[in-house]
Amino acid sequence: MTQPLTQTIGYPRIGKAREMKRAVEGYWKGKVEADELLATMRQVEEAGWHAQLEAGVDRIGVGDATLYDHVADWAIRTGLVAGRFQPFQGLDRTFAMARGAPDVPALELTKWFDTNYHYLVPEVDADTTPTADYADFIETVRRAQSLLGERAVPIVLGPVTLLRLARLEQPLEQVLDAMLPIYRDLLAELNDLGVQEVQLHEPALVLGDATEHEAHYRRAYEALAGAGPAINLVTYFDDPGETLPFVLDLPVEIVSLDFTRGRTLPALRQANWPAGKTLAAGIIDGRSVWQSRPSKLLPLIDELRKLAPQLRIGPSSSLQFVPYEAAREAHLPEELRSALAFAEEKLRELVLFGRALAGEDVNAETQVLDESWARFRAFAPDEPEVQEKLDRLAEGDFERAQPYRQRRGQQISLPPFPTTTIGSFPQTTAVRKLRASFKRGEITEAEYQAGVDAWIGYTIGVQEGMGLDVLVHGEFERSDMVEYFAEKLHGFAFTQDGWVQSYGSRYVRPPIIYADVVRPGPMTVREFQVAQSFTEKPVKGMLTGPVTILNWSYPRIDIPRQEIAYQIALALQEEIVDLEAAGALVVQVDEPALREGLPFKPDRWDEYLSWAVDAFRLATARAEPQTQVHTHMCYAEFGDVLGAIDRLNADVISIENARSGDETLRELAAYGYEREVGPGVYDVHSPVVPDREQVKAKLRTFLRHLEPGQVWVNPDCGLKTRGWGEVIPALTHITEAVNELRRELEAEKQPAAATD
Ligand code: GLN
Ligand code: ZN
Repeated sequence: MTQPLTQTIGYPRIGKAREMKRAVEGYWKGKVEADELLATMRQVEEAGWHAQLEAGVDRIGVGDATLYDHVADWAIRTGLVAGRFQPFQGLDRTFAMARGAPDVPALELTKWFDTNYHYLVPEVDADTTPTADYADFIETVRRAQSLLGERAVPIVLGPVTLLRLARLEQPLEQVLDAMLPIYRDLLAELNDLGVQEVQLHEPALVLGDATEHEAHYRRAYEALAGAGPAINLVTYFDDPGETLPFVLDLPVEIVSLDFTRGRTLPALRQANWPAGKTLAAGIIDGRSVWQSRPSKLLPLIDELRKLAPQLRIGPSSSLQFVPYEAAREAHLPEELRSALAFAEEKLRELVLFGRALAGEDVNAETQVLDESWARFRAFAPDEPEVQEKLDRLAEGDFERAQPYRQRRGQQISLPPFPTTTIGSFPQTTAVRKLRASFKRGEITEAEYQAGVDAWIGYTIGVQEGMGLDVLVHGEFERSDMVEYFAEKLHGFAFTQDGWVQSYGSRYVRPPIIYADVVRPGPMTVREFQVAQSFTEKPVKGMLTGPVTILNWSYPRIDIPRQEIAYQIALALQEEIVDLEAAGALVVQVDEPALREGLPFKPDRWDEYLSWAVDAFRLATARAEPQTQVHTHMCYAEFGDVLGAIDRLNADVISIENARSGDETLRELAAYGYEREVGPGVYDVHSPVVPDREQVKAKLRTFLRHLEPGQVWVNPDCGLKTRGWGEVIPALTHITEAVNELRRELEAEKQPAAATD
C-alpha cells in the first residue's frame, strides 16, 4: 500500500445489540461461562474490524476491546496490580478490581478525561513491581492481522498516561523506569509478529500539567524508539497546548492530533512540522453525532497538507463515544436523521475525505452532506420566546432572594446528622419491565402510573421504617437521569439503539439536543406528590441540573454551550416553582457532570465555570428562601473546583467521598466550606454492604473535619444499580450508626454539662 490516508484510533465495543452487557452481567450471575464471555467479546470486536475494513479505512486501531475497562486492562497487562488483587487471577482479577470482593474494595471509578466514560483508577502499592502479561493482547493482534493484514494497528495505552492516571505509592519515575523495559518487550513482540505500526495513546499530553511531565515522556519515548514498529503517538480531546513543540520533537514517526477541540490548528501554524514525520489529523469529530461539514473540512485538509506534507486523517478520538449507526434510527424524522453521523457513518465520511486528501474530486458526495444539513436547519424549530427570555436575563436573575444565613433558619429543621439518600432506589427487573411494557404500549398510562406508585409507596415505607429523615420517591419512572428530563422537554431527540458505554456494563443513550429547549409542562410533580402523600416526612423534589443535562447530551453545534445550558436552566426554574406549589420543602438539583466539563488547561477554567455555575444558579434562583436546595456530585476530584461549588450557593451538597477515601471531605474542610455537606458514607458501586461500625467510624472521621451541624449522612450516589437485598441492610446500618452516634454524642455532652 502507498501512504495510508485514513486511520481509526478506537471503535465502539459494546456490540450493536449490546452483546457485551448481556455477556458480562450473565457471567457475574453465573449464567454465562467464561469461554462464552470471551467468545462474545471477540465477536463484537471482529464485527467492528469488518465494518472498518469494508468502509476502506487504511489503518485500523485494534486491541481496545474490553470486558470492563481498557485502563484496568493495561494496568493488569503491565502488572500495576495493588496487593489486594494479587490473590485473584484471570477474569476474577479484572472483576475484583471493577466490583470489589468481600473485604477487597474495588478500584476507584473516575471520568475518562472530559467524557462520560469512566475508567478504574489503577493503584500502585509501595511494593508493586510491574510485570508483563500480554498474552490476551498478542492473541488479539494475531487475530486482527489475519483479518486486516497490515491495516491492523495495535492500540496501546502509553506508559506516561497510564501512570499519570494511576494512584501511585511510589515515585512516578521509579515505576516508569520499571515499566519501560516491559513496554519495550511488548513492542519487540509486536515486531516479531510483523506489526509495522503501533499506536501509543498518550491523551495525558493534553492535560494542563503536561509540561511538568515532559521529562517522563522524553525518557519513555527515547526508550521505546527503535524497538520495532513505527510509533504513532496519539493524543486527543484537546490540543497539546504549550507542549506541542516538545511533542513534535519526540522520537516517534507519526503524531495524531485532535483538530475538533482546543486550538490545535493555530498552534500548528506557529510550529514547524518536523520533516519526515507524519501528521495524523483527527478532523472527524469522534464525540459529536453530527455529520461533518465539508465547507469546514475541505479547506482544513488543504491547509493541513501544506503544514505537514505527510498527512493522513482520522476521527479525533475513539468512536466509542458515539453509537454504532444513525441509519438504524428509523423513528427519527428524516430531516434530522440524515444530518446525523454515528460510528459507521463517520467511517464513510472518513474514507470520503480521505479521497479528497488523495486529490480526488468528491464534490458530488460532499454536496449531499451540505444538502442534508440545510434541510435539517430548515426543519429544526426556533423558539422566539426562549430567545427573548435569554436576551432579557439580568444579574439578579441568577441570585436567590435571600443569602444563605438568612434563609437557613426558615428551612426545615431536622435532628443532628440528618439522613437521606441520593435519589434512586433499585431499578429491578420488575421496574424495568414495567417501564418497557408502557413504552411498548402493552399497558395504559393509568396502569403504568399505578405500578410506579406502588414502588414509590414501597420505597417510602422502607425509608420510614428505617427512620431516614429526608425521603425520596425512588426515581422508578426514570430510566436515566438525563433522558427522563430530555423526554419531557422540547428540543431533544432520542435514539433507539444509540447506546454508549458509561462504565463497565452500564451503557447510556445520550439524548441529542437539536433545537431550542422548552418545558411544555411539569415533569416531576406527579411522582413527588404521590410520594409526599404517603408520608409526613419531607420528600425531596428530584431534578437533574442544567450542566449535567447539557454535558450528558450530544449538544447542537450551531449555538454556544452556555446558551443551551441557560435554556435548560429556565425550564428547571419553572419546574421548581411547580414543585414548591405542590408542597416540596426540599429540592435536589443533581450536577454530577459539572466537574467533568472543566477544560484541561487551568487558564481556560474560569470561562467555563462562570457560565456553568451561573446555569445552576439560574435554575435555582427562584426557589423560595424556605425551600432547601440540595445538589449532588460524584465521580470526580473536587479539590480544584471548590470555589465553584461554593458559588452554586446550594443549601446542602451530597458528594461522592467513600470511593476516594475521604479526600473530598478533607478538601471541603480545608476550603472552609460553610454550608451543609453529606459526604458519602459508603460506595454504592460495590456490592459490599457496609456494617454499622464502619459507618460509625466514617461519621467520626467526618466530625474531625466538619462542624456537627454541617454533616448530612447519605450514600455516595444513587442506589439504582443495587438490589433491595443490599440496600435495605446498608441503609439500616446507616440509620443505626447515626442513632448510636446521636446517643453517644449526647452522652459525651452530659459530664461537661454536670461540671458547669
Ligand atoms: N439522583 C440521582 C440518582 O440517585 C443521581 C445520580 C448521579 O449522581 N449520577 O440516581
Ligand atoms: Zn452520584
